[in-house]
Amino acid sequence: MTESLGRDHVLRALTDDGAFRVITARTTDTVAATIERQRATGPTARHFGDLLTCAILFRETMAPDLRVQAIVKGVRGTGSLVADAHPSGRTRGLVQLPEGVGEIDLGAGALLRMLRTLPGGRIQQGVVEVRAGGTVSDALMAYMQASEQVDTMLAVATAMDGERVVAAGGYLVQLLPEVGRGPLLVMAERLEEFREVTAHVRDAAFSPAWLLGELLHAMSFTEVGRGDLSFDCWCDEARVLGALATLGRADLEHLLESGEALSISCDYCRREYGVPVATLRGLRERS
Ligand SMILES: [Zn+2]
Repeated sequence: MTESLGRDHVLRALTDDGAFRVITARTTDTVAATIERQRATGPTARHFGDLLTCAILFRETMAPDLRVQAIVKGVRGTGSLVADAHPSGRTRGLVQLPEGVGEIDLGAGALLRMLRTLPGGRIQQGVVEVRAGGTVSDALMAYMQASEQVDTMLAVATAMDGERVVAAGGYLVQLLPEVGRGPLLVMAERLEEFREVTAHVRDAAFSPAWLLGELLHAMSFTEVGRGDLSFDCWCDEARVLGALATLGRADLEHLLESGEALSISCDYCRREYGVPVATLRGLRERS
């Protein structure tokens, strides 16, 4: 497993007593790159990193072809954070702070919305309130209980030195359906020392396999899958033009006034797409 130590990935395992599903993830580079692309800083960057890891862990509990979006909305108009986890392991996100707002406020009343896109495009979603003094992972745990009715324990961490992400990751443990709640107490007790995992992700030995071993210490389990993770965006020119096509004639006229090609950047990855004047004219003719 040494070859996988230094790369972002998730591991899925089942305990051999048939009671639990366990997922561990290293998200260091994915979180660092997404934070960098969104120019997030301070506590907002940490919440954003946690949200990205939560979206990845949640997606791993779902059917393999589902895409998951996790959205946190701050209180008092302090903006929102979006994590978008693609079934391929590619992950991207958005930090949307209104002008003049330095940090998102996740105080009482902040909301966590979880959306999953089913094959065919249908969306299922649910929402839960972030408790006072709570974290994104606490909110996701409450969400799992309320909306999915699955006993879930999880913790994530985004470890930063100043504004630099040095490590990120976490775990999720779920009681499998059809199993009585008996084993839950024992597991909850075991996980008591893993409620905070910043020290674990900062550990030089940290990898998904190592964390799995720490969590399930002396418990036998079987690895059932793994998946690579990375920051990546799946935007393309067609989508950008699709957004332009929704503009009205007046807006298009306005864009054409300068007589110059338009440059549009993707909000997620900041990639620039050039739209030639001829294309804008074509859109105007059709509007
Ligand atoms: Zn993009």
